[in-house]
Amino acid sequence: MSTQKTAFTCPSAPPEPGSVLLGVVAAPGQIVYITPNPPVSSEMLDTFQKNGIVPENRLRFAGPCMEHRCMQWAGSRCGLIDRVVEHFGPGGDRDPLPKCGIRNTCRWFAQQGRAACDSCPEVIRKPAGT
Ligand code: SF4
Repeated sequence: MSTQKTAFTCPSAPPEPGSVLLGVVAAPGQIVYITPNPPVSSEMLDTFQKNGIVPENRLRFAGPCMEHRCMQWAGSRCGLIDRVVEHFGPGGDRDPLPKCGIRNTCRWFAQQGRAACDSCPEVIRKPAGT
């Protein structure tokens, strides 16, 4: 199996070295996007652990899209953002797009355009209490 990575970026990647910090979950459905995106380091993850922060429910990370090696992959696209957009609807064009740091390579934006950005803040890898 090839281990070559695609040029697309997953905006819901695990917190691990090689990923970058995409944003902070300010409230349910609200992300404060960080630009430029700081790289995730072991030191950063240690600091979260020491402070009792579960990164997956307080922060969002971005990393290489793993395509068929990801459980969310559905044939030729990311099934997660398709389901999220289907659930929350296409959004609207009233607000400017959030200033996230990965739009040029974002897998979700490539698939769903601004509907992905409208639903993006709703995604948390590990909701509190799970
Ligand atoms: S879906 Fe939109 S807001 Fe979310 S990471 Fe991708 S480009 Fe940024």
